[in-house]
Amino acid sequence: MAVSAPAKAAPHHTPEGVGAIDPRRQLEVLQALRAHLPEDCLLSDGEDTRPYECDGLTMFRQQPMLVALPRTEQQVAALLRVCHRLRVPVVPRGAGTSLSGGALPHSQGVLLSTARLNRIVSIDPLARVAVVQPGVRNLAISEQAAQHGLFYAPDPSSQIACTIGGNVAENSGGVHCVKYGLTVHNVLRVRAVLSDGTIAVFGSEALDSQGLDLLALLIGSEGMLAVVTEVSVRLVPKPRLARCLMASFNDVGTAGQAVAALIGAGIIPAGLEMMDKAAVAMVEPFARAGYDLEAAAILLCESDGTPEEVADEVQRMEQVLGAAGATRLAVSRDESERLKFWAGRKNAFPAAGRVSPDYYCTDGTIPRKRLGEVLKAIEAMEAKYGLRCPNVFHAGDGNLHPLILYDASDADSTVRAAAFGAEILELCVKVGGTVTGEHGVGVEKLDTMCGQFDSATMQAFFGVRLAFDPAGILNPGKAIPTLPRCAEYGRMHVHGGKTAFSDLPRL
Ligand SMILES: Cc1cc2nc3c(=O)[nH]c(=O)nc-3n(C[C@H](O)[C@H](O)[C@H](O)COP(=O)(O)OP(=O)(O)OC[C@H]3O[C@@H](n4cnc5c(N)ncnc54)[C@H](O)[C@@H]3O)c2cc1C
Repeated sequence: MAVSAPAKAAPHHTPEGVGAIDPRRQLEVLQALRAHLPEDCLLSDGEDTRPYECDGLTMFRQQPMLVALPRTEQQVAALLRVCHRLRVPVVPRGAGTSLSGGALPHSQGVLLSTARLNRIVSIDPLARVAVVQPGVRNLAISEQAAQHGLFYAPDPSSQIACTIGGNVAENSGGVHCVKYGLTVHNVLRVRAVLSDGTIAVFGSEALDSQGLDLLALLIGSEGMLAVVTEVSVRLVPKPRLARCLMASFNDVGTAGQAVAALIGAGIIPAGLEMMDKAAVAMVEPFARAGYDLEAAAILLCESDGTPEEVADEVQRMEQVLGAAGATRLAVSRDESERLKFWAGRKNAFPAAGRVSPDYYCTDGTIPRKRLGEVLKAIEAMEAKYGLRCPNVFHAGDGNLHPLILYDASDADSTVRAAAFGAEILELCVKVGGTVTGEHGVGVEKLDTMCGQFDSATMQAFFGVRLAFDPAGILNPGKAIPTLPRCAEYGRMHVHGGKTAFSDLPRL
C-alpha cells in the first residue's frame, strides 16, 4: 500500500557494505571456496577486482572482497553453501549496467558474476520458447531467434550489454514494452539457487502453473531472494513491417496530453517515447536522426504488424496527434530511417557523455496527465541545484528518465546531483506515481522507498525476504531499506525503541 508524500527530505547515507576489506576474512573465505571452485574462477587481487567496483550508478564504489566467476549451476550452488555457512554476503552481477547500484559490491562479500554462464541452451520455434543461462545478453536472444522469424520483446536500451539474469532481477522494460509487456510478462520459468545452495524452479513453460505465483515474486527481486541460473523466455513473431512516426510539439504538457489521446483512441503503439528540447539538443549532434531542434518535445511512436495494419494505424496516429496539437509529423520511409529515428532515443544516455563528465539517470513513474507540471518542477530544480537535466521518457508508461548532468570529481556537484534526484523521486510519489519504473531500487532509492510505502507494506517486504533468505546474505543493503533507516526518515513506526524485524541478521 502506498502512502502519500514523504515526511521529510531523504537523509544522506553511505550504502551498507561500503568500507575496508578485512584481509584475514578474505583469506578464510577464499580458502573455503577453493575447495569447490577452480582457481581460475576466483579473483582476490585488488587489481583484478577493481573493474567490479561499481555498476551504472558510478556515484558509489566499493571493491568486493572476492569475485567468483562460476561456469556451472553446481558451482553457484556450492558457492552459496559455503557463503551461507560462513555468513558471507553474496552480490549477484550480470553486465553491471544497473543504474541504481543494485550490483554495488560488499566489502565483506563475494561478487558472483554470471559472465561465464552465457549459453543459449535451446530455442524451440514451435513452442516459441528460448531457454538461456543468466549471463546471456538480452539482444543475443533476439539475434539467435531471428532465424526462426521470432524475437524476445523486452528491449532495454542497454540490450546490447545487459543480461537476462539482470533483466529478471530488475523486471526490466524497454521501448517495446508498452505493447509487448515487461520482463515479468515474457518470462515463463526460472531456475535459481536459494541462499543456502538449494536449487529451485519457479513457474513453468505451460500457460498456467500451479501453486503460489513465486515466479512473479522473484522477478524484480534485485538479487535478494535467489541467484537466477536459467531462464525460459517467451518468443514472439517478428512483425512483417514496422514504421516510426515522429511528432513535434511546442509545449511539453501538450505532448503529454497527446500521449493520453493516443491511448484513449484505443491505439497501442509498439513503442511510445518522448524527449524534451534539452534531450533532443544533446542527442541530435550524436545520432543525426533528423530530430526537430525547435520543438519543446518530440514523440516517437511506432506501429508494427502487416503492411495493411501498419498503414491503417499510422494514419490514425497522424490524425490523433495532429488533433492533439502536433506542429510537425514525419513517418519513417524505410527500415534504415526507422532505426535512425530510434538510434537517438536509444543512445540518449551515452550521448550525455558528450556534454557532461558524468550523468545520473534516475527513474520514476507518474500519471501521464501530470507530465507537464512535473517537467516544469524539474526545470525549477535545475536552477535550485545549479545542474542541467535533459529528460527522456517511456511516454506510454509515464516512466521518466531525467538525466542529471554533474561532475563526479567535484564532491559538491555529486551531493547536489544526489539531492536533485531524490527530490524528483519524492515529487513522483507526491503526484501519485512511484519511485521506480524499471531500474530498480538498488542503493539509489532506499530513502525514497521509505517515503512511498507504509510500515505494514515494508514489513511484508521484510517477511518475504526473510522467508527466502533467513540469514540475509543475498545482496544485503539493497532494494528494501533497513527499518532504522525508515524510522530515521520518519516513516516507520518504532515500538518500545524496536522496529519490526529488528532481529533480522545484520551482516
Ligand atoms: C545506457 C543504459 C540504458 C538502460 N536502459 C534501460 C531500459 O531501457 N530499461 C530498463 O529497464 N533498464 C535500463 N537500463 C538499466 C539496466 O540495463 C537494467 O536494469 C538491466 O536489466 C541490468 O542488467 P545487468 O545484466 O547489467 O544487471 P546488473 O547491473 O549486473 O545487476 C542488476 C541487478 O540484478 C541482480 N542480478 C544480476 N544477475 C542476477 C542473477 N543471475 N540472479 C539474481 N540477481 C541478479 C544484481 O544483483 C543487481 O541487483 C539501462 C542502463 C544503461 C546503462
